[in-house]
Amino acid sequence: MTGGTPLSRDILEVEILIPDGLGFCFGVKRAYDLATSAVREGGRIFCWGPLIHNPQVVSLLEGIGLRVVEEYEKLLPGDRVIIRSHGASPRVLEALKKGGVEIIDATCPFVKKAQERIAELARQGYQVLLLGDPGHAEVQALLGYAGSHSVFVIGQMSDLNLLQLEKKVGIVSQTTQQESSLRDLVATVLPRVEELRVFNTICDFTASRLKSSLEIAGKVEVMLVVGGEKSANTRRLRDACQRVLPSTYLIERPDQIRYHWVRGKSRVGVTAGASTPDWIVSEVVKRLRHILIEGEDEDQEGP
Ligand code: SF4
Repeated sequence: MTGGTPLSRDILEVEILIPDGLGFCFGVKRAYDLATSAVREGGRIFCWGPLIHNPQVVSLLEGIGLRVVEEYEKLLPGDRVIIRSHGASPRVLEALKKGGVEIIDATCPFVKKAQERIAELARQGYQVLLLGDPGHAEVQALLGYAGSHSVFVIGQMSDLNLLQLEKKVGIVSQTTQQESSLRDLVATVLPRVEELRVFNTICDFTASRLKSSLEIAGKVEVMLVVGGEKSANTRRLRDACQRVLPSTYLIERPDQIRYHWVRGKSRVGVTAGASTPDWIVSEVVKRLRHILIEGEDEDQEGP
């Protein structure tokens, strides 16, 4: 995609630009499909933590019978448990198996690759640096794949100051980090170690969604990023777009668009995080068109 698809143009010359292929990323779509087909089969079915960081989708899934669980004692032998796209640590998987539950593994293949890379580096005696958000579920699970070897999460470059780097260091990234952050980490560590092994485990989707969103942010007057407040990749997308265009806003739902953000604007961009379904994006675009073209009254805004 090279800069967005004009979605609407009418006599008022209003354009809404969106990247091609908005909607769930490959890994989230796969997890969603596995979850919904497991629910259709009936029986007690759970997800280990919320399936994705999107409250609308999580409540929709709860409505059809997919319960979120994070305590082993709530499970019974024979229950089925979905492992979300973020993956789970070997310790969690082992405990679930011991409890006699059936595991439906929806770990994204890109995340699985990062898990394998960490395990490989740890086995080969590298001190592992994991670029990622320390509290994120994917990162928490990834840490478990180093076993008892030394592994450190680097959330920001200053975290390196707390570390005594060893001679052999390996670097792996959370799948949704930005390549620029990975490059910065590599450049900072390289002069300080004898041997450095780097695996770029950032997924293609993250990089291409970021690129197409930034292209659009460079062409519009206002940018809306649609996704869950708790979604790390959505927040990162918002931050990156905001650096290009300060008038960038993160919203979870169409009714969060504020009239004064877009009033009088003729070019607005819309992008979305990996866990935002296409139907929410369509609703956002619909409301945006309504405001831009039909001039929804500011008084109609909620509090
Ligand atoms: S953002 Fe990338 S790594 Fe994460 S679930 Fe989607 S495809 Fe997989």
